[in-house]
Amino acid sequence: MESLTVEQVKEMIVQVAYGIIQREPELTAIDRKVGDGDHGIGMKIGFERVVEELNIQNFSDVGSVFQVTAKTMLNSMGGASGVLFASLFLGVFKTSKYKKELNTTDLANGLAKSVEDIEKKGGASVGDKTMLDALEPAVTSLMSNKNLDLELALSDGTKAAKKGLEQTKKYVAKFGRAKNLGSRTIGYQDAGATSVYFILYEMLRFIQKE
Ligand code: ADP
Ligand code: MG
Ligand code: MG
Repeated sequence: MESLTVEQVKEMIVQVAYGIIQREPELTAIDRKVGDGDHGIGMKIGFERVVEELNIQNFSDVGSVFQVTAKTMLNSMGGASGVLFASLFLGVFKTSKYKKELNTTDLANGLAKSVEDIEKKGGASVGDKTMLDALEPAVTSLMSNKNLDLELALSDGTKAAKKGLEQTKKYVAKFGRAKNLGSRTIGYQDAGATSVYFILYEMLRFIQKE
């Protein structure tokens, strides 16, 4: 598939939302091992509100779907991860304002902006056991596959995110609540990186069935 329409983008985000809501117990369990156990609940609350908002609003461009998603997460989740996960969607908003469709280049550029913003806001970088460990490799992959159609590019990007997620098991947490546990976080994967992987995985699944 070359690109998604505004309506398809909205349906894709709704699928992402349900994918995260459904995995709340898994995300909670991961954050309980190395953090404070609230990640799944925070994400679930945010995405439940996102589904509500997307269903009641009409969208005339791709950017505003991502903008409403980001704003809704920001307003409902609170805490550091609310801001950081909102930034993931806000990055794509910034590069897809007024666009009537979303192609591989738009998604790659958008998520590259997200990585930049998340690094700026949170101060973390790859290797610090955060969401960036899954997102950054996915963006690198997407950026080098701009010429591929969305399904192929996102399939590679999702694989890269999964590899990055696996890597987090080796890292010591340097940010968030997990930081307090220091080297005791080795052996466990990061909760936020897990969410990033599921977000990309659900985007891919949506595109595959379209
Ligand atoms: P909190 O740590 O405030 O309880 P959550 O449990 O919802 O928030 O989210 C934790 C996740 O947020 C971590 O697993 C990590 O991926 C991500 N995270 C935390 N701090 C940062 C940061 N400074 N930069 C990037 N990601 C971060
Ligand atoms: Mg937490
Ligand atoms: Mg917390």
